[in-house]
Amino acid sequence: MKVSKRAQAVPPSATMAVTTRAKEMKAQGIDVVGFGAGEPDFDTPDFIKQAAIAALKAGQTKYTATSGTIELRKAISEKLKRENNLDYKPEQIIVNIGAKHSVYESMQAVVDPGDEVILPTPYWVTYPEAVKLAGGTPVVVRTQSANGYKITPAELKKAITDRTALLVLNSPNNPGGFSYTPDELAAIAKTLEGTQVMVLSDEIYEKLVYGDTRFVSFASLSQDAYNRTLTVNGLSKAFAMTGWRLGYTAGPLEVIKAMGRLQDHMTQNPVTFVQAAAVAALKDTSDTVEKMRVEFEKRGRYIYERLNAIKGVKCDQPTGAFYAFPDVSAHFGRTIGGTKITGSMDFATALLEQAQVALVPGEPFGCPENVRLSFACSLAQIEKGLDRIEKWLT
Ligand code: PMP
Repeated sequence: MKVSKRAQAVPPSATMAVTTRAKEMKAQGIDVVGFGAGEPDFDTPDFIKQAAIAALKAGQTKYTATSGTIELRKAISEKLKRENNLDYKPEQIIVNIGAKHSVYESMQAVVDPGDEVILPTPYWVTYPEAVKLAGGTPVVVRTQSANGYKITPAELKKAITDRTALLVLNSPNNPGGFSYTPDELAAIAKTLEGTQVMVLSDEIYEKLVYGDTRFVSFASLSQDAYNRTLTVNGLSKAFAMTGWRLGYTAGPLEVIKAMGRLQDHMTQNPVTFVQAAAVAALKDTSDTVEKMRVEFEKRGRYIYERLNAIKGVKCDQPTGAFYAFPDVSAHFGRTIGGTKITGSMDFATALLEQAQVALVPGEPFGCPENVRLSFACSLAQIEKGLDRIEKWLT
């Protein structure tokens, strides 16, 4: 049996180890509190489901154009104009099978072997693998907790070489739970002027910002930023549609066309009746998404206050997405319940085995001092989980 070198080089997802073990424990009837999930606990809004059902009944069950129906690309174009102040014609947009697919296909379209791709920490686990599968080299830039884990213009400048093809920005951030301010993004855009570096701006959490945080699309900051940016977004997080698999990429025409050629031979079009449902979601002007956002904000504040009340846990207040990303390194070196905690992996494993709380270690995100807690679960669960963490640590 032969497995390609390329496939062999892809490691199993390090975040999955804890999640798999938590599932096993749950199946054995153990009461595990799960902070692992990267998906909203809400159900998909009913009007979106109805749109999919109507499309199915109307016989929308055949192939569409590879890059998506013209109705959907028009709806995305209008959404980007209305909400993000971005001018993308429908032909500058490709619909993908989830934003994960958008990221993968973008890398395939713009990264050559030997190219460098800058990934500020913490980064979403998929980015480095997508870079490597395109033959590129991930250039990880360690950010500082004092800067809220955001890359500074000076750090960025230092990382750019004549082989840098791409910078990946993700704001609001998974796993960090922070957002860049418009000024911080503008400073990054300025730093890139005069360079060859393109930007992949992953804006999947755009609707989930808290406090006085204001979301801006990177490409809307200047003409220069627009010209060098691939804007990636999707329906999974904002509309609680993770299982529907719908994402999209907007950017320079030649790149989008190249992605279309790749997609022709890989997956072809996203599911036809899901595209019809996506049109309904993107045209919605009700407060459906806002209601979910408000609920996430409440949970984020609670989790932040509780975490910081625990000795040796340092957490910034989440300003976006649905993650808290505390630094727990003050506990490294301790022995808890007979297990020596040497890093975030041991921390997560011991917490799960001894206190039945599942969270994700920071190592695979490039931040070994931290752990990620998703607050895409009910306040009652969050309260119970934090009671257990507090008790376990003190
Ligand atoms: N980008 C980020 C930062 C994410 O956290 C996720 C989901 N975990 C995605 C992209 C992909 O989302 P999907 O493929 O469900 O659209």
